[in-house]
Amino acid sequence: MSFIPYATQTIEEADLAAVREVLTSGWLTQGPAVPAFESAFAQVHGVAHAVAVSNATAGLHLACLALDVGPGTMVWTTPNSFVASANCARYCGADVDFVDIDPVTRNMSVQALALKLETAKASGRLPMVVIPVHFAGLPCDLREMRGLADEYGFAILADASHAVGASYLGSPVGQEYADISVFSFHPVKIITTGEGGLLATQSADLAARLRLLRSHGITRESGEMEQAPEGPWCYEQQILGFNYRLTDIQAVLGHTQLARLGDFRARREHLAARYPELLRGLPLKLPALPADRTCSWHLYVVEVEEGAPASRAEVYARLRAANIGVNVHYTPIHLQPYYRRLGFAEGMFPAAEAYARRALSIPLYPLLDDAGQDRVAVVLREALTA
Ligand SMILES: *Cc1c(COP(=O)(O)O)cnc(C)c1O
Repeated sequence: MSFIPYATQTIEEADLAAVREVLTSGWLTQGPAVPAFESAFAQVHGVAHAVAVSNATAGLHLACLALDVGPGTMVWTTPNSFVASANCARYCGADVDFVDIDPVTRNMSVQALALKLETAKASGRLPMVVIPVHFAGLPCDLREMRGLADEYGFAILADASHAVGASYLGSPVGQEYADISVFSFHPVKIITTGEGGLLATQSADLAARLRLLRSHGITRESGEMEQAPEGPWCYEQQILGFNYRLTDIQAVLGHTQLARLGDFRARREHLAARYPELLRGLPLKLPALPADRTCSWHLYVVEVEEGAPASRAEVYARLRAANIGVNVHYTPIHLQPYYRRLGFAEGMFPAAEAYARRALSIPLYPLLDDAGQDRVAVVLREALTA
């Protein structure tokens, strides 16, 4: 039986043609294809500014810098994410803390956030930035978070790596509520550029800072220079930036992928809608989908219930033995050795820890056909039937 991964990219002739063409066009680094891709992405997500970067981790780093995260400041995120959601603050020398998850949505809990803010205010350690993560592509409770952000004076940097094309209260993720949203184009995500990421913001100021930071802190616009340019050859480095640029090769790929976002989403929704039927009656907790938002279905995570005939480890082994590439998203960030050494320990974020003991990401991606999905369900049923 052929291997079914938990996720993989969809590369088609349109992608190959676009990449072939750009390779002979003269621009290999950041050229005209990058702003063209940025505009198309901004239009689809209804945002004023889109800044493409070399990957979402680089994007999170730049976003923290643009929001003035630095030594002595505090950043909060969720333990149920990829480590990059916390590491970005550490790159800037900031302190990191976590807010436990809501066991229903598996996203950062607004109630836990509100409580923690109250305590932090009393002790004078309020966060400068909070990084909620739209886990599996399900948007967080952004409206409530925006209310807390305005009350306590922190910025919202949404890690939207999973959430390309998702929507919340009728508007695309990235358009409202968050100050900056970061998307990833890693091959397992919704659309891909190989490595790649993008920052979306409605703020012209933040977008300008992000563009400067993306490219060494250098401007070539004479109107923006601090010193009068001696000639048209002059460029000026104004701040300490990085080379976090996307290439034109990646941008054309992103553009042809974005053109098929609707197809990708429809296929993911079809598969996500089939799983509850296929898994009916099994001791599995399935993903929730509140009525006021849509999910991009980056991941389909089931939780093996307490008292099920097989443990999570056994179910994992059965699926792997059947050539099905299940995975666990995520080991809570605070339990990674690096974060333990910073003082975090088991028991600090019980909801995220309990979830992580039961979670299994089962296959979901556009090229998974119904028969392949049926095979996944059959193996799960065999594993979970006493
Ligand atoms: C994939 C991912 C990232 C990192 O994305 P890259 O583009 O690989 O750097 C960050 N956060 C989350 C939640 C992710 O899933």
